[in-house]
Amino acid sequence: NRLKEKVAIVTGAGSGMGLEEAKLLAQEGATVILTDINEDNVMKAASDIQAAGGQAIAYKHDVASEEQWSTIVNEVMSKFGKIDVLVNNAGISLAISMLESTLEQWNRVISINMTSVFLGMKHVIPHMIESKQGSIINISSIAGLTGGSGAGAYTASKGGVRLLSKAAAVDYGKFNIRVNSVHPGFITTPMSEELIQNEQMHQWFLSQTALPRVGEAPEVAQAVLFLASDESSYITGAELAVDGGVTAK
Ligand code: NAD
Repeated sequence: NRLKEKVAIVTGAGSGMGLEEAKLLAQEGATVILTDINEDNVMKAASDIQAAGGQAIAYKHDVASEEQWSTIVNEVMSKFGKIDVLVNNAGISLAISMLESTLEQWNRVISINMTSVFLGMKHVIPHMIESKQGSIINISSIAGLTGGSGAGAYTASKGGVRLLSKAAAVDYGKFNIRVNSVHPGFITTPMSEELIQNEQMHQWFLSQTALPRVGEAPEVAQAVLFLASDESSYITGAELAVDGGVTAK
């Protein structure tokens, strides 16, 4: 067990990559707090993990709400006494260009994808400072590494997650807190399913990758597990692309 006796929060754990991350962390011995705005999905995910012998609880959680972060973190602290791992995974996509998006759409993407990461770290890091250790994994995207095209708000939100991760790594490293970002490429999840099933888009994805296929959510979860575990004890402020080689091209 690579995460024995660890307590881990995973946001957006009701679906896709967050669900696979939560399952894998629980399999490796962590007590996992799954949160998601979709209550039915996250409750089912936690009970599936329990049924498989893992330790899990679930919360309905809008990651853009500071009040909800505060409530959940306080409850987790009183139940489990510490938080070792935080995976800021929840996010939404918005495939429209900068000029097409309204201020409302811009604000929504920035708050759910990026402000959420600020709020999560703001509420969890003080407890990690107390216990003088912690690993935070923020899920960005290949869209947080390059300018991409046709998704200005999404790209800005994910680029912000990348540098906010480094800023936190620099400031809180002295407390043995590590902060890294993970940058998935084209991964099959409910978020991307429709695009990946579109034959023309699928062919375009394949033209972008080095490995001749799209990725699967458990492959991203393995990267998150590595960064959560002590195996990555000297890795902080790093960005790990899990993209089949897209950004190598
Ligand atoms: P998904 O849609 O399957 O899962 C996202 C989860 O986040 C859902 O369960 C959803 O209910 C939850 N969520 C949405 N808004 C929320 C909110 N305000 N508060 C709490 N939870 C909320 O998508 P996924 O593909 O698994 O995406 C996970 C992360 O990976 C996202 O941050 C996404 O931007 C990123 N990502 C995805 C891909 C891809 O190809 N699928 C590529 C790069 C990055």
